Parts: sequence; C-alpha cells; structure tokens
Amino acid sequence: MSQEIEHVKCLIIGSGPAGYTAAIYAARADLKPVMYTGIVPGGQLTQTTDVENFPGYPDGILGPQMMEDFKKQAERFGTQVRFGYITSVDFSGDVHRIVVDGEKTITAETVVIATGATAKWLGLDSEQKYNGFGVSACAVCDGFFFRGQDVAIVGAGDTAAEEASYLAKLANKVHMLVRRDEFRASKAMQHRVLSTPNIEIHYNTEAREILGDGQNVTAVAVSNNQTGEEKQLPITGFFVAIGHKPNTELFEGILDMDANGYLITKPDSTQTNIAGVFACGDVQDHVYRQAVTAAGTGCMAALEAERYLAAKAHVMI
Ligand code: NDP
Repeated sequence: MSQEIEHVKCLIIGSGPAGYTAAIYAARADLKPVMYTGIVPGGQLTQTTDVENFPGYPDGILGPQMMEDFKKQAERFGTQVRFGYITSVDFSGDVHRIVVDGEKTITAETVVIATGATAKWLGLDSEQKYNGFGVSACAVCDGFFFRGQDVAIVGAGDTAAEEASYLAKLANKVHMLVRRDEFRASKAMQHRVLSTPNIEIHYNTEAREILGDGQNVTAVAVSNNQTGEEKQLPITGFFVAIGHKPNTELFEGILDMDANGYLITKPDSTQTNIAGVFACGDVQDHVYRQAVTAAGTGCMAALEAERYLAAKAHVMI
C-alpha cells in the first residue's frame, strides 16, 4: 500500500532559537510551518542553566525554560511542532522531498534548516557530570558567573584564544590548557592571549578529570604529556573550546559548505545554493553562535521563504 505524502509550504528542521524564530514568523505569515525538532528538542540551550544575555528576560531565565517559551510562542500561531529526525533530503526538484525517521515522506515548497552545531567535548565523565554547574562550552554565555574567580579553558584555536581573552576580563585568573607546545590560533589572537597578564598558558597539558564537591567544580587535574607531571589547578569554572561540529551530514554533496562543514549562505541572506532552501543559526554561523543572533537569522529565513513563495506564485499567475 503506497503511503500518502504530506505536502507543506514551509518545513523547519531543528528546534533551537533559529528554528523557533523562523516558525513564529512563518506561522504569522500563514505559511503553516511544520517543524521537526531533531533528537535534542530545544537544541543546545536545553543543556545550559541560566541565560542572562537574551533580551527580554531582565532576571535571566533557565535555558530549557526559554526554549519552552519559544515553543509556546511558535505553537500559538499554529506551528506544528513534531518530534522526529530527518533522515534524508532530496533538493533536486522544484518541490523538496524530505524523509522523516526513515519512514514518512514530506514534500515542501520551502525548507528552513536550523539544525545547529554541537560543541565538541573532551569525553571525560566529570565533564558531563558538572555540565552547567561549572563546566561550559560557551564563555560568552557563562563567563559572567565566574567573575573574580579562577577558571580554566581547554583549546588552542581562535575560539579558545578569543574566549580566554573574554574570560580574562571577568575572572581573576585564566589557566589555558594547550595540548601541544604551540597554538593553532592566528598570530594576532595568540598575541592577544600571550600579552594578557592574568592568562597562564600550560603547554603540553591535558585535563584528566574535573574535580568537584558533587555540586560545583573545585579543581581540574591535569598532566603534562611530555614529562608525565600531574597536578591540580584550583578553579570553579572549566571551559571547553575545542571546536564545534555543525550538524550538516545530511546535506553533504547537496548544499554548499565550507571546509569545516558550515552551510554557506548568500551574503546578507539565509539563501543556500538551492532555491527555496534557507539556513539559519549556528549551522551557518561559526563566528557569533549566540541565541540572539540565531534568532535573528531565523527571522530572516522565514521572511525570505515568504518572499520566495510570493515571487513563485506571481510567476505562476
Ligand atoms: P579549531 O578546530 O580551529 O581549534 C580547535 C582547538 O582545540 C585546537 O587547538 C585543537 O588542538 C584543540 N583540541 C581539539 N581537540 C582537543 C582535545 N581533545 N583536547 C585538547 N585540545 C583539543 O576550532 P575553533 O573553534 O577554535 O575554530 C573553528 C574555526 O572558526 C577556525 O577556522 C577558526 O579560525 C574560526 N574562528 C575564527 C574566529 C575569528 O576570526 N575571530 C573566532 C573563532 C573561530 P590542536 O591544535 O592540537 O589540534
């Protein structure tokens, strides 16, 4: 028996701030959006605690609660939010074909990709145990909670250098753990880190375990991978800045990506290389990666989808 194919005007893939903002705008424009949440409904913000830098929440808000609020707002205007994972896409035709959970096929006139990025972690058990309680993958989001305290950051790329500099303005001291005897970051970023007095660089150094009292982080155990020397650094905040992985495997060979797998959109636009397919949020932004910038590009994607459909309807008349 052949399965009935559902047709939608606007399909949104991903349920972080970009996806939900696209949904709010698309729903209010009567595009009747259908959203598939992916395996982490609410996205990266559901894995953080307090969010204090999203405008409109003067007292701050818990990340999971904020995403519930986004969801409610999107549903209020008629977005259908469905739990499901997109397993394949075919963007070769005028109408796009999307398969959900390997079973259900949907055809969509426009597709908004908001699948986000995933922070890379070291893989320590203690890292997950204290995630949100001293361990973070976003200095700009969480650095504020460690004002006047000692923190550590792992990584030696541009992100780590940028985040170490940011943390140095807030924290008493920043221990930077670099696994090789040199940085990967650009010379300019290295210079900034090396000339900041309260950043101490520990070369050839790896974090072995994050130590805590069961509730909060109290230290990190590190070892020198050349000498074998082990020691503990007393800290209350542990930041991981070893890169992000955009969630774009699904689009390999179909959509234009940069060398790191981020989707490439046209300048000042969320338009991908395929007409009617738009990308917003962290999946196309490796620079800012903030909830508010993701929301901004989500808005752009919905407006562009609406204009694309209007232009198409005009041509068909
Ligand atoms: P990168 O991949 O450039 O750097 C990752 C860093 O993490 C490397 O130093 C790497 O070490 C280290 N690392 C990886 N795994 C581990 C591990 N298990 N333990 C310890 N250290 C580890 O990622 P970034 O996020 O820094 O940058 C991504 C891209 O974005 C780059 O192209 C970068 O230039 C760009 N960017 C640009 C900015 C700007 O221009 N302002 C700001 C931020 C990012 P190793 O060097 O030994 O491999």
